Amino acid sequence: MTKLTTNRRSALAWLGAGASVPVLAACGGSEARAQSYPVSYSEAEWRQRLSAQEFRILRQAGTERAFSSPLDDEKRRGTYHCAGCGNRVFSSAHKYDSGTGWPSFWRAIDDGAVGYTTDYKIGYPRTEEHCADCGGHLGHRFNDGPQPTGHRHCINGVALDFRPA
Ligand SMILES: [Zn+2]
Repeated sequence: MTKLTTNRRSALAWLGAGASVPVLAACGGSEARAQSYPVSYSEAEWRQRLSAQEFRILRQAGTERAFSSPLDDEKRRGTYHCAGCGNRVFSSAHKYDSGTGWPSFWRAIDDGAVGYTTDYKIGYPRTEEHCADCGGHLGHRFNDGPQPTGHRHCINGVALDFRPA
């Protein structure tokens, strides 16, 4: 009886794991997402359009070194655009200094500008954030930001182009 239960459990666990694999793979990084975006290029075309660093961050979900982006200290009024496609993604009105070394915002410029997936790259789930128009990886959203949202959008400066107002 015990043995049957155990077998049934492991069969269920196995089925569960099998069923979740495609979901995890689809959410693992921007390069693996099967969704289509309004702005779409082949990998070779992206490599041509972007610098090596931009490609690594935007298309391979890389992370820039903390305190490496001049945009971390950017305090002028203006808008932040996706470096991949030019989509407006953040505003200086929502930027703050989180002290983390990455440009940080408490909200995106509007709800449709960015999209989210769950990312398991470092072993636990994080909210991956990407450009809604091209799917380019921007950074992650955490729940330790300031009010009124309580969100910290932790964004790679390499993924952004700043346009002063
Ligand atoms: Zn984009």
